[in-house]
Amino acid sequence: MYDFIIIGSGASGLSAAMYAARLNLKTAVIGEMPGGLITSTHVVENWPGTVSISGPDLGMALFEHATKAGAEFKNEKVLEVTKSEDGKIFTVKTASNEYQSKTILFATGTQHRSLDAKGIKEFENKGVSYCALCDGAFYKDKNVCIVGGGDSAAKEAIFLSQVATKVYIIVRKDVLRAEPRNQELIAAASNIEVLYNTEIAEVIGDDEGKKVAKILTKDGREFAVDGIFLAIGHMAQTELASKLGVELNQKGEIKISRHSETSVPGVYAAGDCADTEFKQAITGSAEGVTAAYYAFKYVQGGANF
Ligand code: NDP
Repeated sequence: MYDFIIIGSGASGLSAAMYAARLNLKTAVIGEMPGGLITSTHVVENWPGTVSISGPDLGMALFEHATKAGAEFKNEKVLEVTKSEDGKIFTVKTASNEYQSKTILFATGTQHRSLDAKGIKEFENKGVSYCALCDGAFYKDKNVCIVGGGDSAAKEAIFLSQVATKVYIIVRKDVLRAEPRNQELIAAASNIEVLYNTEIAEVIGDDEGKKVAKILTKDGREFAVDGIFLAIGHMAQTELASKLGVELNQKGEIKISRHSETSVPGVYAAGDCADTEFKQAITGSAEGVTAAYYAFKYVQGGANF
């Protein structure tokens, strides 16, 4: 029997695991990718106390810290979470195991939103990508475009501008909503061009239809590109929580209190799957750490609220 099972091994889950283990809670983190989403970020420059660190290095540092503190890591996919009739014991089922715990933290993050445009599905992994750090090297000295106007799009563009010849950012509104620092870096890169008020209408492949060759925009323009990176936001992965009876908001995110509690006693949520507006690695970590503390109080028999 565990005291605290964390579902999700990103920054929020691993921070929670480190704190929980230090509070002597018997803790397990179950996840498929140690480090989570931050590992697909090129450079992180807003982690306090660390001026600059690569995303993979930060992810691994968090993982090491959590496991060295005593949290167990299970490299598995969670299929179902159920609770006992009295609501005091949770059972977490994976493909190969079943674990029981007194409390649960959902740190399940998000999945990429896909673009509803002709050719996007057809050319996934043939030029359409969701991760510049993973696939950027294929586009050395080539032209690419990024779709989206938020910080993810900005960071992908900045990274790709160091590899590709030309980088277009396709923004459907007339503004970028990335943070000022990222906007400054975009303005400073001579090979990034922002195309405002437009969207991709169609992706067109080469003669053999094997890879992306160009895009047509809704305003009738054509751009020759070899790669298309989609950074149009994420959807919270909250199906497991919802099936357990945890309350979600209209966007499908888990509603949490300032103690990172959900509507179900003993169940907590943190990070990108939760309903906080400002989503950063550091805010998710803080929510995870908060969850660990209140799970500790809950296990000790304290009040949940
Ligand atoms: P966001 O939701 O912030 O931005 C999504 C962007 O995609 C918006 O510009 C949106 O346009 C656009 N978009 C959505 N749907 C479509 C569509 N169908 N077609 C074209 N464009 C579309 O997501 P992000 O992943 O960028 O960021 C998520 C959170 O993570 C944010 O809080 C962000 O600040 C944070 N983050 C911070 C980083 C940092 O360096 N500090 C790095 C990465 C993420 P519209 O504006 O019109 O809705």
